[in-house]
Amino acid sequence: MKRAKQQIIVLGGGSAGWMTANLLQLQLGPKGFCITVIESPTIGIIGVGEGSTPQLKMFFDLLEIKESTWMPACDATYKQGIAFHGWTDLVHPQYDHYFHPFPSNYDHVSAKPFLEQVHAMLLGQASMPHPNPYFLTSVLADTFKSPQHSHDNIHTSYGYHFDAVKLGQFLKTFGQSKGINVIETTVADVCHSQHTIKAVVDEHGTAHYADWFFDCSGFSSKLMRETLNVPFINFSDNLLNDSAVAIPTPRQKKESPQTQASALNCGWAWRIPLTTRVGNGYVYSQQFCTAQDAEAELREHLGIDSSLPARHLSMNVGRLAEHWVGNTVGVGLSQGFIEPLEATALHLVQETVTQFIGAFCAGDYTTKHQRQFNQVINARFEGIRDYIVAHYVCNQIKNDPTGYWQHCRENSNLSNNLAAVLACWKSGGDLHELLSQRNMQQYYPTLSWYVLLAGYRQFPHQQYQVNEQTNAINQQLNELMHSFVAID
Ligand SMILES: Cc1cc2nc3c(=O)[nH]c(=O)nc-3n(C[C@H](O)[C@H](O)[C@H](O)COP(=O)(O)OP(=O)(O)OC[C@H]3O[C@@H](n4cnc5c(N)ncnc54)[C@H](O)[C@@H]3O)c2cc1C
Repeated sequence: MKRAKQQIIVLGGGSAGWMTANLLQLQLGPKGFCITVIESPTIGIIGVGEGSTPQLKMFFDLLEIKESTWMPACDATYKQGIAFHGWTDLVHPQYDHYFHPFPSNYDHVSAKPFLEQVHAMLLGQASMPHPNPYFLTSVLADTFKSPQHSHDNIHTSYGYHFDAVKLGQFLKTFGQSKGINVIETTVADVCHSQHTIKAVVDEHGTAHYADWFFDCSGFSSKLMRETLNVPFINFSDNLLNDSAVAIPTPRQKKESPQTQASALNCGWAWRIPLTTRVGNGYVYSQQFCTAQDAEAELREHLGIDSSLPARHLSMNVGRLAEHWVGNTVGVGLSQGFIEPLEATALHLVQETVTQFIGAFCAGDYTTKHQRQFNQVINARFEGIRDYIVAHYVCNQIKNDPTGYWQHCRENSNLSNNLAAVLACWKSGGDLHELLSQRNMQQYYPTLSWYVLLAGYRQFPHQQYQVNEQTNAINQQLNELMHSFVAID
């Protein structure tokens, strides 16, 4: 590598910008790269995005930031998984929702009886294939337990809920302490020749030159879309939701460590407990209701009047055709967005930057592995999209005043991969084998697909029967609870 100091500009100081800058500083700072974040004092950050996957823990571990440091600063709580409420109106004798658990190493014990019950049901026998009783993190959420425990042989994966604005501020302070430069100004123009950006020019006419640029400018996608005209692949034929309305509410005394995703008339509502408040929002499709109707429905769902203010947002759902073009990489909302049902956006930020650093270093700090990088990130976007589309296609909501849910069920634009998964399940084929053949497990493992399909009761009949196997495993899981710390 040329050892002269190379300049990297990260345009944007939202969660994506600060995660990107910190990862670059950690890994490329010592190799002679100088990182500068340019953030606008007038263009705000999106300010939503309060839930994570378990991958966020690896981000903080990599930066050697302890939970005891960042969590209180960001009003953060633990997340054991996601509870899906009302995505089917089929009546179950015991459960009014299904819980999507984050994995634990205890799953190798408890998944076996779950899979046996699923296969029995698929073969037409009455059984108990509902996922909730079988998974450790599901029981942890139900019993208000933290992931902290005194058990030697148990490892659970968990995510977090946090205040998105405070997370950005925390990462900014941390990044500055590690040597990241910050310039507060708004970029008005960009100097470029074909696919190479030379400088961004701010509102005062000052040009900021760099060798490499990261576009973390949010939905405006200032560098990737606006300047380099990178095509955008819209996912709207598969994912209808294009808008959201958010209304935070006061926290209840005791909150379960889970995100709740409740089906409403034209989409779904999130409920995310932080230490200081609860984040709520309704993700919906403007094809099926107006912003005003969505706000009214959310208020009714939350049982609140108009005294608490609402924030309305639009969403561009899809991805860039390429995420690394010339000397510029798109990260965060500027590179694309899959609606927030699985809270995967920051996961994709982390993945994009990590894959970039790997490809960049392996290619001796050149564009040598750019093409492969773009393929990997595109495949990841599509893999996550397919799993989210599966939630909609598998819904069993018949009480459907707007026709939204029927429209979702009748989606005929499924990818080949998703169509193959659904066909395999229905025909009783080997799902694990299919997911392996299609390399789909790197996005969602086999067990997640089983949990989703069983959670949505995709069975030829609905004869659930409580049995000894289920009771035994659920009892074992409950017995483990004493070693886990309770949540206040
Ligand atoms: C309804 C909704 C719910 C979501 N829920 C989740 C979730 O649960 N989990 C999750 O992981 N993600 C979620 N997301 C996504 C998440 O909010 C974003 O991925 C995350 O906040 C990162 O945003 P960003 O940094 O890319 O963009 P932004 O937060 O919009 O930041 C853009 C930055 O660029 C700067 N900027 C823009 N233009 C210029 C300019 N010309 N000059 C200088 N600076 C500029 C701005 O000042 C700002 O600092 C959700 C998104 C939506 C819409």
